[in-house]
Amino acid sequence: MVTIAAGLQQCSYSQSSPSADKKQTMDSTKTNNPYYSKTDSGTVNVPEAEWQKILPKDVYYVARQKGTERPFTSQFEHSKEIGTYYCAVCGNPLFKSDTKFESGCGWPSFYEPISKSSIIYTPDNSHGMKRTEVECGKCKSHLGHVFDDGPPPTGLRYCINGVILDFEKAKDAEKKYNQQ
Ligand SMILES: [Zn+2]
Repeated sequence: MVTIAAGLQQCSYSQSSPSADKKQTMDSTKTNNPYYSKTDSGTVNVPEAEWQKILPKDVYYVARQKGTERPFTSQFEHSKEIGTYYCAVCGNPLFKSDTKFESGCGWPSFYEPISKSSIIYTPDNSHGMKRTEVECGKCKSHLGHVFDDGPPPTGLRYCINGVILDFEKAKDAEKKYNQQ
C-alpha cells in the first residue's frame, strides 16, 4: 500500500487538510447548483456542458466523465457517523450509514442502497474487466461499481467514490450517542 500511495503523488488531492478542502467543495456544489434538491425526486436531465459549468472539477470528473478518485483519499472511507449519504450532484438519497462497512478497498463501501430506484445498474466492460457500474437513479451521475463479494445480508459491495457523496448527519444521532 505504501508503494502505491507514493506512486500517486502527482494526484491533485491535497495532503494537508483534506477535510477543510472537501467542505469548501461541498458548499460550492450546493450554492452554484440549482439542480441540487433533497426534496424534489423528479429525474434530473441537464446537458453535460451545463454540469461542467456548475460542478467542481473533481466532482465533474467522477460524476460525468466516469472518473475514479484516488483510493484512500475520501474523508468518508472510515467515517462511522450516523446519517444519510446523498448524491453530491443532485441530492438524491443513496445510502444509510448503517449499511456502510470497512471493505479496505480504499473507497467508501456499502452493502445496500436506500431503495431500488436510487441506483441505476449498467454493464461496464472497460479496462478489460466485466464490472457493473452504478449510477445515481435521479441524475445518472457515475457513482462507482458494485461487486458480489460484500458482507451479508446482500453479499454486495457498492464501491463508491467519496467525492460524489454528500453526508448529512442524523438529527438525533448526537442525542443517541450521549445516552449510551
Ligand atoms: Zn444524482
